[in-house]
Amino acid sequence: MTGRSEIRSTCPYCGVGCGVLLSPEGEGGLAVRGDPEHPANRGRLCSKGLALGETVGDDGRLLAPQVDGAPAGWDDALDLVARRFSETIEAHGPDSVAFYVSGQLLTEDYYVANKLMKGFIGSGNIDTNSRLCMASTVAGQKRAFGTDTVPGTYDDLEEADLVVLVGSNLAWCHPVLYQRLVAARKARGTKVVVVDPRRTATCDIADLHLRIRPGTDVALFNGLLLHLWEVGALDEQFVRTHTEGFEAALSRASGSDPAATGLTRPELAEFFSLFARTERAVTVFSQGVNQSSQGTDKVNAILNCHLATGRIGKPGMGPFSVTGQPNAMGGRETGGLANMLAAHLDIEDARHRSVVRDFWAAPRLTETAGLKAVDIFRAAGDGRIKALWIACTNPAVSMPGADEVAAAIRACEFVVVSDMFADTDTARLADVVLPATGWGEKDGTVTNSDRTISRQRAALAAPGQARPDWAIFADVARRMGWADAFDYCKPAEVFREHAALSGLAGALGRDFDISALADISDGDYDALAPARWPLSATRTGGRFFGDGAFFTPSGRARFVAVEQGDFAALRSPRFPYRLNTGRNRDQWHTMTRTALAARLSRHLAEPYLQIHPGDAARLGLAPADLAEVSGPDGGRAILRVLVSADVAEGAPFAPFHWTGETAAAARIGPLISAATDPVSGQPESKGAVVAISKF
Ligand code: SF4
Repeated sequence: MTGRSEIRSTCPYCGVGCGVLLSPEGEGGLAVRGDPEHPANRGRLCSKGLALGETVGDDGRLLAPQVDGAPAGWDDALDLVARRFSETIEAHGPDSVAFYVSGQLLTEDYYVANKLMKGFIGSGNIDTNSRLCMASTVAGQKRAFGTDTVPGTYDDLEEADLVVLVGSNLAWCHPVLYQRLVAARKARGTKVVVVDPRRTATCDIADLHLRIRPGTDVALFNGLLLHLWEVGALDEQFVRTHTEGFEAALSRASGSDPAATGLTRPELAEFFSLFARTERAVTVFSQGVNQSSQGTDKVNAILNCHLATGRIGKPGMGPFSVTGQPNAMGGRETGGLANMLAAHLDIEDARHRSVVRDFWAAPRLTETAGLKAVDIFRAAGDGRIKALWIACTNPAVSMPGADEVAAAIRACEFVVVSDMFADTDTARLADVVLPATGWGEKDGTVTNSDRTISRQRAALAAPGQARPDWAIFADVARRMGWADAFDYCKPAEVFREHAALSGLAGALGRDFDISALADISDGDYDALAPARWPLSATRTGGRFFGDGAFFTPSGRARFVAVEQGDFAALRSPRFPYRLNTGRNRDQWHTMTRTALAARLSRHLAEPYLQIHPGDAARLGLAPADLAEVSGPDGGRAILRVLVSADVAEGAPFAPFHWTGETAAAARIGPLISAATDPVSGQPESKGAVVAISKF
């Protein structure tokens, strides 16, 4: 039940997508509590969600457009943006411009930006910080299923007898989902296995913690596949009827040595046996899998094991990707990645392009994928990208090779930043800065990790002249000459168009079809309750693939033959450590919002390097010393030493939250190499090679 003045919305942080109830109070204040009726959290919130009310207000906000650092009117600023983009495209072609957007944009924002770039400018050059988050899952799922489809639901974690968490510190990074798992474990005795080189808070509930050697997940799951075959634990009927490529995957798996994981034979045997004998098994995977130069193969190694056992799309069974960002999934639905079209359609498929081209009446729909995140900034640095629009993200801090990224932005001829905040590391480098509304002020939808679409609703007035991102993109599109196609007045209009396009995708036999919502009235959009797709009741339990029907041309799922990469080769005598990076429990990304709630900094107040006692002794580091961490590309960070056996020898850990504003010497982004997965383009953010010394 909502109180009389409470407004239903969703939390803007992680991919769990918890429902919140907002009550405006005082002047610009906001009280926040968990929404007991939201299916993701049923009233629960974590520390970050509970502190949301302390993060609103005008402090640090960008209140008016700026051109070259001086205040400007909206008309002048938008005219300039439209003119510079149009002139650049005229002179150098559509691929000379790019948008870099964010998994924190709402679906309506994403839809308009993607339509403008792919359909009207005519380039695929729109990518998102979701590329750093879950692009390997997208690529792995498309390889196996033919679409980027999450098979299961959150309920599966509660209906499973075994939950395997791979590269996921669920307790800190998806806390409410973790709370649901803890409750289920108490109620039904769910076994929990954590696969992580680091002993994290999630290990508190682990029956088995596999301290895998960093980067060796493929060897582990190839070993599991082989074991399942050897002990006769395959679902042979499912494999025969609904899949292809099993023999090749098994043959490749038999060439893998599980000893590469560094795990003991008894540890491997215990895990393999537990998985083989537990029908209701869910494998949750997150950034420890995705953020790797072999991320896509890791994803497919996991999917292979679920396909081999037919444990997919049934209650309590399946591989399950949890996204880091609140709307990574909504972005994927609109095609907001450089290699995707809208509505989960494929850019490389002429029939799909034709459907989108006709629907949008697009003058020059792109026919090829665009540059992915890392490549966009490389192209900005070497002059191929001449006009760049960065929306709702701070790549000068958060991208791998952040110093080179900052230099590339500086070198780019024309840079637009639309953001809530006035003085971010990236905004300082822009020619035009446009004030955007943020969480609590804007209206639209987001999709969480289990495909549930929820409304974000405005509870506060927009500060200053801030405007929603979809409206800013549409205004520029109109000025570039496409007034009819971008004639939106409200987010409901954008949503209806997005839903209608998904119906055409559904008619092509694709997974994403929310066309039942294409005709909803403004009032129904305002009142829209959380809705998980597929919306049709024919898909029982809201899952995919339990019926063995996949979205490949043959209708069968594809096993992908994968082999373990040689991560040891990445290290060198000069840079002998492999730095793992991640989040703190109470902080989010580059802390632009969470730093506003003082109590969230009490948990872990300063940047730190968690390092094994053996490494610390060798380096002469004592607890609370300062360590200098340096990388081969010139990155350098000074971090407080935290000696702990929770990390493995040679594999220290550092959180990535601090920025130029909060602790310039503790920026982790410059230490991360721009090496990417060859399939997904996702960077190796979990394995920077570094040197460490006493500062
Ligand atoms: Fe927000 Fe995620 Fe916490 Fe839920 S679990 S309150 S979505 S940060």
